[in-house]
Amino acid sequence: QPKFDIRAGRVTAVEALVRWQHPGKGMVPPGVFIPFAEQTGFIRNITPWVIDQALSDLAEWRRQGIELIVSVNISALDLMNADLIRQVSQQLADYDLQPAQLCLEITESALMNDPETAQQHLEQLSALGVRLSIDDYGAGHASLAYVRDLPVHELKIDRAFVSAVDQSPRNAAIVWSTILLCRELGLVVVAEGVETASEIEWLTTHKCHLLQGYGIAKPMSSDRLLNWLSASKAVEAP
Ligand code: C2E
Ligand code: MG
Ligand code: MG
Repeated sequence: QPKFDIRAGRVTAVEALVRWQHPGKGMVPPGVFIPFAEQTGFIRNITPWVIDQALSDLAEWRRQGIELIVSVNISALDLMNADLIRQVSQQLADYDLQPAQLCLEITESALMNDPETAQQHLEQLSALGVRLSIDDYGAGHASLAYVRDLPVHELKIDRAFVSAVDQSPRNAAIVWSTILLCRELGLVVVAEGVETASEIEWLTTHKCHLLQGYGIAKPMSSDRLLNWLSASKAVEAP
């Protein structure tokens, strides 16, 4: 799914959102199988595969003259896995990509079980040059200590607050204060779940950096992305 950079006036990043094409059940959304994969530990196989797919797409797009940043969602179990750092570093080298072209999205709840180990691993990923993002910000057990202490580059405001931000004074207060917080801390701020033209207008006026949501584009298969980008003129021609 594209992430539109308001200042640049184009799509500068994408988020990898996994789907399971099941032979009988059809398309299974991640909300259905990721929680089980986390419980059973099978997420340890899924995450490296998703990162590999994402980096492979990035390398292909670069060959076609399009430079993007790709975000991948990682779970609590991934954060506890010390091998993740070595593995990510190897995968970046295999595709000859810069670490800053990869962004890992973490939810606040993934940090809660063992915040010290999580912080240690995030420091190592950050030292590698990989970008880090707090996903669904505000929806979980939001702690400003995470924002203060973790080496994150980006904060994604949860859809619950972005939805109807132009109509709900309470959502507007939360989103605006979060944009200001990010500005003061030097973080990139992303609005998730942007759907309507008036939400886009509000977020543009209030200097949000990046927009993601059906109002920009729904998630699409990676082989459709370049066509969509050129059709929507959301990226500069190579
Ligand atoms: P997320 O990372 O917060 O991703 C955003 C979700 O919101 C996606 O749902 C996306 O399709 C949906 N979305 C985007 N724009 C809009 C909008 O304008 N309106 C509405 N109603 N929804 C919008 P999706 O793809 O079903 O993914 C759900 C969650 O599953 C993700 O939330 C993420 O936490 C998890 N997930 C997805 N892919 C992976 C993965 O590869 N690994 C892991 N560990 N988790 C994943
Ligand atoms: Mg995400
Ligand atoms: Mg999210």
